[in-house]
Amino acid sequence: MPTPLSLCLYCGSRNGRSPAYAGAAETLGSGLAARGMTLIYGGGGIGLMGIAADAAKSAGGRVVGIIPQFLQDREAGHKGVDEMHVVPSMHERKALMCELADAFCVLPGGLGTLDETFEILTWRQLGLHDKPVFLIDVEGFWQPLIALIEAQVAGGFVSGSDLPGFRVVASVDELFAKLAGLEPDGEVATERL
Ligand code: AMP
Repeated sequence: MPTPLSLCLYCGSRNGRSPAYAGAAETLGSGLAARGMTLIYGGGGIGLMGIAADAAKSAGGRVVGIIPQFLQDREAGHKGVDEMHVVPSMHERKALMCELADAFCVLPGGLGTLDETFEILTWRQLGLHDKPVFLIDVEGFWQPLIALIEAQVAGGFVSGSDLPGFRVVASVDELFAKLAGLEPDGEVATERL
């Protein structure tokens, strides 16, 4: 696979406590724009979602939002994106995000972020797509989740082979380096997790 053109971001609808989270969202947005890549995201104007979209737009990038009708007010549907898809339900939001993206990445976030991350991982496990998923472990935020998945593997509930294309990166810069090095089958060259 060549470097993906569209990257879907899952992340918090809040900023979180550490300024490093907002910093990573900004670096992600501006970095996508600099590489001519499109940001696919939940369409909100708040939290890390809004920060990443604003950074991508400020740097001249292309941003596509996908938001359910009922969340437009609560998540402050972004007014400055290039395309906004207003969909009837959360399910349709996730399905369209999956369809439009070449790869997925996850910044720190809350329950919604976890839901989206696990759905895209389980869809891959079921063979419904073959796109890579990168967990961006800003300041070790995802270590408890990684430990849980490792416990699931050790406990015999998850096969390591169920997780192809799922990789942990320590920073947004490492994400971009990995995206540039994707192998033709969408597998990531360097093994982690
Ligand atoms: P959170 O991590 O809880 O701040 O939520 C991050 C984003 O995930 C928000 O845009 C939520 O609307 C979204 N979200 C939460 N649950 C779902 C779901 N089941 N399907 C799609 N998006 C969701």
